[in-house]
Amino acid sequence: MSRKPRRAGHEKLLTFVVVAVVAIALGVAAFSVRSAFRAQRASVAAADLQLASLQVNTAGSLDANGLLDQPVDLSDEIDVLQSDHSLALGSLAPDDRRRAEELLAEISGCGLVMMDPEAPQHQPHGHAELQNLLAGTAATQEAEARSAGRWAMGSSAVALALLSGGLWSLLRSRNRARREQTEADARADAAGRLQHELMRQASIDLLTGLPNRRALEPALRAADTRRAGSRCALLILDLDGFKNTNDTLGHLVGDQLLRDVSQRLAGTLHPGETLLRLGGDEFAAVLPDVPATPAVPAAAGRLLAALEAPFEVGPRSERLQASVGVATTDESCELEVLLRHADIALYEAKRVGGSAALAFEPEMEIRATASNVISRALAEADYDVEFHLAYQPVVEAHGGRTVSLEALLRWTSPSLGVVGPNEFIPVAEQTGDIREIGRWVIGAACAQLARWDAEGGAPDLAVSVNVSPRQLSDDYFVTETLAIAASQGIDPGRLIIEVTESAVLTAGGEAVEHLEELRSSGVRIAIDDFGTGFSNLGQLLLMPLDIIKVDRSLMLTLGSMQRRPELDSEAPCEVMSAIVSIANARGAPVICEGVETEEQAESLRSSGIQFLQGYLMGRPQPAEALTGLAGVRPRVGSGGPPEA
Ligand code: C2E
Ligand code: MG
Ligand code: MG
Repeated sequence: MSRKPRRAGHEKLLTFVVVAVVAIALGVAAFSVRSAFRAQRASVAAADLQLASLQVNTAGSLDANGLLDQPVDLSDEIDVLQSDHSLALGSLAPDDRRRAEELLAEISGCGLVMMDPEAPQHQPHGHAELQNLLAGTAATQEAEARSAGRWAMGSSAVALALLSGGLWSLLRSRNRARREQTEADARADAAGRLQHELMRQASIDLLTGLPNRRALEPALRAADTRRAGSRCALLILDLDGFKNTNDTLGHLVGDQLLRDVSQRLAGTLHPGETLLRLGGDEFAAVLPDVPATPAVPAAAGRLLAALEAPFEVGPRSERLQASVGVATTDESCELEVLLRHADIALYEAKRVGGSAALAFEPEMEIRATASNVISRALAEADYDVEFHLAYQPVVEAHGGRTVSLEALLRWTSPSLGVVGPNEFIPVAEQTGDIREIGRWVIGAACAQLARWDAEGGAPDLAVSVNVSPRQLSDDYFVTETLAIAASQGIDPGRLIIEVTESAVLTAGGEAVEHLEELRSSGVRIAIDDFGTGFSNLGQLLLMPLDIIKVDRSLMLTLGSMQRRPELDSEAPCEVMSAIVSIANARGAPVICEGVETEEQAESLRSSGIQFLQGYLMGRPQPAEALTGLAGVRPRVGSGGPPEA
């Protein structure tokens, strides 16, 4: 870092020294040239005086010898002899100079006399002495001129050398400085570009090329200030059950799917809207200026609709679903709060079955807090102490024989009291505790069946257990389930696994394989809650199944349709009959859940439903209430004893 200023200091000093020496050399050269010229001029002037003196003297000799018949014009010589002698005599010693001037005056006086025709003949005196003096001064001046000339030449050469050397080094130094500056500029440019690229990469998701979580706050700020007084929305979209897709198909295919998803989602956005990938299978959309109604902006629907068509990955065709949570700046402009609200709404959308978009509502937050409390209590729960199973009979629609018992989990938490399965099962699914809980349920149900067998109960009675998507996708699910049944001496044919259609879809490809494996070992598969959510008959036909359980809500809907005069009273019955026909075509009997009245039971019987389950036939009861054959065969219509 300190090299540059030091070098600049050296260069300045060097330049100063070069300039000083060049100046001195030039000064010496100029002085020497001047001296040489002066000496040369003095020598010439001395020579002129010599010549003028010689001519006057020669004319005088001729005149004195009578060889001149007329006066000679010596005016030019006299002018020379009378001119300023200081230059010509400057190098003489003062006495010699004085003597020379006397002689010059005398000779020029003689010359003047000789030009007068009347004047007597005249021979100037002192010419030889003057010639001597002038020859000395001329020689001295000559020598001085030569020496000064040499000095001038030498110092000029030095100055020239230094000047050219200095110029060369100055040029070199300037070139180097220029090169260094160019290099420094290039380095600064490269550093700037690198920094810009790093900043860009830091806020870009490398897989999809979308802005990432870091870009969320700037995107929200930009959207929020776009028009004062307007509100903007944050949408968080999460693919349902994508983890399983990823695990089943491999991460390369998973990555390709995420890229395809991001492209489809981006294609639905309008100008000014921003799509980001927050991580994993979680995307966000920031929408500026959204209207107050509907609570869920239309963009959410467009995002979900974009994923409807199957995704082609290699030879496979994959279907994906997603859920969306929405938060708006009406609630808060703080990123943290918006994110939390959108997350809570997303969680709620998943909780109600997924493939939906929900806007945040304050009650959701209360529920979210409640699920935190539940998850903590569940993590600390001693299953053998706090859990027990309640059993609800499934009876033949005609005859009322109990064919199986559905095991329904009950939890009495020391801190929270009785917590219903609809409250804690979704939490356990989120935390992953459901795997451990599910193993406990299957173990407890098989152990109870073995106990009834030991007490002389019905050896053909089956027990059904409810299974969650997380359990279904677990690699050990099949072997563990069969091992548990075997350890209790229970024939797999007496075990029924209840799964919902959406659970199978959410759990992914291996869920179907696991169910097939169980079936091949004799375990029966019941599709639970049929008629809720997005039940799809086409999809249903492709699933491994042995029993279809129609949900209470469908039965109630059909019941209310029957009471509406504008509708054909036979239509609901025909719908139920159609379901039965389709299920039976696959060899699957139909159980209708939630039967509470004899009227409902009668209507279901006439629709062809083979089995009934509900408070009318028997409420879920603790195992102790069902001890012995009498217990497992509650009288149809009695409703059985209520749960403790
Ligand atoms: P599900 O499997 O559909 O169970 C039937 C639910 O309907 C039970 O509620 C039962 O008590 C209730 N029910 C039965 N008959 C009637 C009736 O006539 N009228 C009315 N109104 N309700 C009736 P529950 O026990 O609260 O269980 C709720 C859900 O919790 C179950 O629905 C099941 O999805 C889940 N669940 C229960 N136990 C387990 C379990 O061990 N594992 C898993 N994964 N889920 C479980
Ligand atoms: Mg069930
Ligand atoms: Mg059900």
